[in-house]
Amino acid sequence: MTEHQPDLESEIRRMGRPYWEALQGSGRFGRDVYERILRFAMDDQELRFQAFRFVDLLPSLRSDDVLISAADEFLAAAGAEGRRLAAMLSASRRMVGAHATAFVVRKAVATMARRFIASSDLDGAMKALHRARGKGIGATVDLLGEATLSELEADRYAARYRALIARIAEAAEIWPPDEVLDANHAGRIPRGNVSLKISALAPYLDPIDIAGAVDRLRRRVIPLLELARDSGVFVNFDMESWELHEITMRLFEEAALHDSLRNWRHLGIVVQGYLAGASGDVDRLTALAEKRSAPITIRLVKGAYWDYETVRAELWGYRCPVLRTKEETDANFEKLTRAILDRSDRLWPAFGSHNLRSIVHAVAYAERIGLPQSAVEIQMLYGMADTMGAAFRNDGYRVRQYVPVGELLPGMSYLVRRLLENTSNVGFLKQSAHGDLDYDSAIACPLAGPVHEPAREAKFRNAPLSDFTVNTTRIDFAAAIESARTKLPIRVPVVVGGERRSRPEREHFCPSRNEIVATRASMATASDVDEAISLSVSAYPSWRDLAVGERSALIERLADRIEADRMRLAAIEVFEEAKPWREADADVAEAIDFCRYYAWRARKELSPRCDASLPGEANTFAWEGRGPTAVIAPWNFPLAIICGMSSAALVAGNPVLLKPAEQSSAVAFALYEHMEAAGFPANVAQFLPGLGEEVGRRLVLDPRVAQIAFTGSRAVGLSILESAGKVAPGQREIKHVVCEMGGKNAIIVAEDADIDEAIQGIVASAFGYAGQKCSAASRLIVVGEICGELIARLIDSMRSLRPAPADDPASLLGPVIDEESCRRLLGVIDHPGEGAKELFIGERGTGGWFVPPALFEVSDPGHRLMSEEFFGPILCVHRVSDLDTAFAVANASEYGLTGAIFARIPSTIERARRELRVGNLYINRKCTGAMVHRQPFGGRGMSGAGTKAGGPAYLYQFARPRATSENTMRHGFSPEISK
Ligand code: NAD
Repeated sequence: MTEHQPDLESEIRRMGRPYWEALQGSGRFGRDVYERILRFAMDDQELRFQAFRFVDLLPSLRSDDVLISAADEFLAAAGAEGRRLAAMLSASRRMVGAHATAFVVRKAVATMARRFIASSDLDGAMKALHRARGKGIGATVDLLGEATLSELEADRYAARYRALIARIAEAAEIWPPDEVLDANHAGRIPRGNVSLKISALAPYLDPIDIAGAVDRLRRRVIPLLELARDSGVFVNFDMESWELHEITMRLFEEAALHDSLRNWRHLGIVVQGYLAGASGDVDRLTALAEKRSAPITIRLVKGAYWDYETVRAELWGYRCPVLRTKEETDANFEKLTRAILDRSDRLWPAFGSHNLRSIVHAVAYAERIGLPQSAVEIQMLYGMADTMGAAFRNDGYRVRQYVPVGELLPGMSYLVRRLLENTSNVGFLKQSAHGDLDYDSAIACPLAGPVHEPAREAKFRNAPLSDFTVNTTRIDFAAAIESARTKLPIRVPVVVGGERRSRPEREHFCPSRNEIVATRASMATASDVDEAISLSVSAYPSWRDLAVGERSALIERLADRIEADRMRLAAIEVFEEAKPWREADADVAEAIDFCRYYAWRARKELSPRCDASLPGEANTFAWEGRGPTAVIAPWNFPLAIICGMSSAALVAGNPVLLKPAEQSSAVAFALYEHMEAAGFPANVAQFLPGLGEEVGRRLVLDPRVAQIAFTGSRAVGLSILESAGKVAPGQREIKHVVCEMGGKNAIIVAEDADIDEAIQGIVASAFGYAGQKCSAASRLIVVGEICGELIARLIDSMRSLRPAPADDPASLLGPVIDEESCRRLLGVIDHPGEGAKELFIGERGTGGWFVPPALFEVSDPGHRLMSEEFFGPILCVHRVSDLDTAFAVANASEYGLTGAIFARIPSTIERARRELRVGNLYINRKCTGAMVHRQPFGGRGMSGAGTKAGGPAYLYQFARPRATSENTMRHGFSPEISK
């Protein structure tokens, strides 16, 4: 440990000083106007944030007027300095006009971009490399580009890399020799050097399917590596977000051991020091180097996705992969530095950091263990630490710049996104620009102090989703699926009063594999239904009168049981409803959330209150269940919805009669079994699988059923509302109906949208679970000029959606639920209606009820493709010229469930918030995937008549209020006052 090596520490202090002085002398930024702007931006956090957001948006702003008003909005939101700049902009617009002002703004950003991006093309890039080499500085080239959303884009990217490798190899031939750059401690190293981002080389990379991802990457990466080897160019694998970590490592391992590459010495990979498990990576790479009998270069960096990783872990309840503080990361970086240097025969070290202490520690330690200077490579970002780089080079160290190449404005926006993602990236710039730190602090040994957990209010927390980046989770999930497969078909009985009854069965086939029967469910008879209702009536008073806390505790016990059994339940969904892995897991997590959320809310909202009492008058306000409740559920969220509706009804004091959809009896029965085991009395929860028109209808019409909780299609929902409105002879309650129905959800893509983000959101919203979500997008409303590019890339991305059975983790598009649905959807695709233009029909899977993803375009916003819910992977595009029309078209639907908009200008976002009339509006994200508590869910218009599920006040629908007022005065004596 460094802290126990005082002589190393004093060595570091001694060695660091001249570099520090060089840095102080230079001043990081010069005097030109752009540098001043940059300096402002570094100084002022708010301005920096807004300026970065503006730069991110800039490439998509085609109109000068829109550009200026956007700049104005961002700057106006950026404090005093921002407002001053905004005023300058307005003045300029008045004096020289919009066009000239916009030109200057673009020019300014492009000039700034040129500081960080070597060039927009390979010719320019080669010149930059040549110049750097003239100063003794090496380079590794990174190709900037948009996100890769299709196989076609991946092919294009690979082609750009091939061209880059060839070009560098050619250029390197005429570079004059440089002893420091061209050799390390073990001999000659290539002059050309490129960095490879695997995310660019295949779309839809997902840790859920590592083997599949590696397979798809291999065919592009191995030939690239072979080309680089033959051309004498070094290749380094970049490391990106944690989701891609294991895929990158496995691909690298495979490449390093590949027959044609195992002796190649010029292959490297990044290790990220902020990863809690980074030393495991170093060990793994050491073992790999030993196995392949050639060294591996490690570029040790701190890591650029800290904000992203922490936010993501927090949002989904994953274990956070990164260390929590900068100090911990710095300390870890040093520990890893020593580990790598200690193995420099197998691991060739490169240190990528702008932190002087981190670099000096590396060179000091290398010197102490007797390594020559040439064993250490120092890497820095192009345009960001020239002075420091030059100083190390002057002392004989090999310094290499990481050089981004790509179009200036889009490139700048990618860089800025990266900077935005990791605010700490900016730290070194600010620090070195200002000399905020004194030498002692700058060079001090990083000590990781205790981390203080923020105190959390004791309230509801969503159940974590399964983290498929964790090896054991993947293995356990796969094992649960294999085990479920052996148990098919699942036999499902009717359960009345705790008694299991076999009845004539209905078969439901696996949607993915039609030859397999998933479920054999007994169909409840009329007398089963009648008897169950009688028992429910008898169970009602005591269940209603049980304390809220006791009912809540039972629901929490149910949540615990579901959680403990989550993988088995998800595996049933994979076969019975063809839910892909992640979707099945999320459905089970949502069921757990509903239970815990309603138990929490019940204690809060449904406990009796006497806070309106006065001396002499005791007032209580209480809620009680309404009576026997029929829970009629759909199949598409087969556990979550039936569990949510019934746990809400139960916790509010109503006995329930569960009527699952015909297609999802097995998962619903598994829920029932957990209810039974959790301790719900036999007559409080009963289970009535059966046909909707028979069992469902009988429940709806029975005068003893006080309440119906329904989620499903509009036709059935409306018919239930109508039937429930008729009072039957002998009926004592006005039936209450909680009714959630379908949707025809729109995504608007505004001109200022981030297209990468929009396409990912559209694909997930329209084709996730084959479009069979009530929240799915089926209308795409695109504003203005971006339509052409958006549609072209969307089609490429749809082309890459591989249909596969849901039990295959590689499945990107599963089948639809049953034959009837499949036929109906294929019919719509064949006959979409007059005026529908077919843009793309994708690949159709085999062996199951597969429907190809389909994209149509219509010019009539009232077309049936824009108004009817089809409930499948069919998306309809409608182009509009402006936002007003977009909002009008979006709002024209009779439904009003979800909607999304992709836009970046703040006023557009604000307008959407105000004007889009849907139950759940999503901004710059997909319109599916609502989480309990965070996005309470439910529609308006013909989408629903209820209060949002998983939100406050939902439970009130299931309870009736009662007020009691007692006169506590007895002959002029009030107990409260006379006490
Ligand atoms: P569906 O309406 O066909 O069936 C829903 C339930 O109603 C099933 O249990 C069914 O057996 C029962 N049912 C059918 N006919 C009945 C009748 N005459 N009387 C009583 N019950 C009857 O819907 P589905 O195909 O299971 O689900 C898909 C639909 O559900 C889509 O329209 C979707 O948008 C909607 N949905 C809405 C939400 C939401 O929260 N708004 C959530 C999920 C699904």
